[in-house]
Amino acid sequence: MLKYDSFYFQCPHCHAWLEGRNLKAEMVNQSILYSDGKVLNDNYITTPQKMIMCPSCGHIFWIENPVEPLITFNKPDAEIYSWNTWRFFGVSFSDNKGRMALINHYKTFLRKSHYEPKKEIYLRRFLWWAYNDLHRNHQHVRLKYWLNGFMSFGVWHCNRKMILEGEKLFLKNYKDFTNNLKRLLVLLEKHPEEQIDLELPEIYRELRQFDKAKELLEKAGSRTHFTNEILRHSKWKDPRVFMVSG
Ligand SMILES: [Zn+2]
Repeated sequence: MLKYDSFYFQCPHCHAWLEGRNLKAEMVNQSILYSDGKVLNDNYITTPQKMIMCPSCGHIFWIENPVEPLITFNKPDAEIYSWNTWRFFGVSFSDNKGRMALINHYKTFLRKSHYEPKKEIYLRRFLWWAYNDLHRNHQHVRLKYWLNGFMSFGVWHCNRKMILEGEKLFLKNYKDFTNNLKRLLVLLEKHPEEQIDLELPEIYRELRQFDKAKELLEKAGSRTHFTNEILRHSKWKDPRVFMVSG
C-alpha cells in the first residue's frame, strides 16, 4: 500500500483547489525500474507531474517547484479536485484506449505550443514512456510467465491479449514514436544537465542504433546491473523496453 502526504494548490486561472500527493518513500513495498527510466512504486508511477490541466476550466499550467507559498499542506476549507481528476489528465491506464488517450494528450500539447527546452524534454520523455506503456512487460505474454505461477490463467490470458493488442498499436504509431525519440535525443544532447542516468544509450537502443548504444555504454565508467542489461539487449539487437529490476 502506498502512503502519501497530500498538498493543495490553486489553478492560477480559475482558482479551483487541486489535491496533490507526495509519496512517502519509506512505505514502498516494491519498486520496479524499466530500461527507459520509468519507475513504478507498488505499481504506481510516482514521478511528479509538472504539467497540469485544470479539471475545472481546462487551463494548462506548470508546477515545477512544488513548495510554499505556491502550495499548502493545510487542507483549505473549499471544494477540492482530487488527485485522480487531474493526474495524467484524468486518463486511466487500465486499457489500451486510455493509454492512447494519454499519448494523444501529449501529442496535442506538443503540437499546439512552443516550449522552452526543459519543458519540451519533460513532455517528450513522458510521451516516450506513454508509447512504451503500450507494450511494457512484453515478457508477460510468454507461457512461461503463467507457468511460473505469477497469475491465474484467466488473468494471464487477458493480460496477454492486451499486451499483444498494445504491441500492434505501438507498431502502427512507430513513426511517431521514433520522431519523438529523435527530437528528445537532440534536446538531451544539447542539455546534458537534463539527462537521466543511461537515458542516451537507451534511446539509441530503442532507435535500433545498437552500435551507438554499445559505444556509449562501453565508455560509461562504472558497470552496474542496469548498464549490463542495456548492453545485453543491445547485443541481441532487441529494441523493446524491458524491466531492469523489480
Ligand atoms: Zn482552472
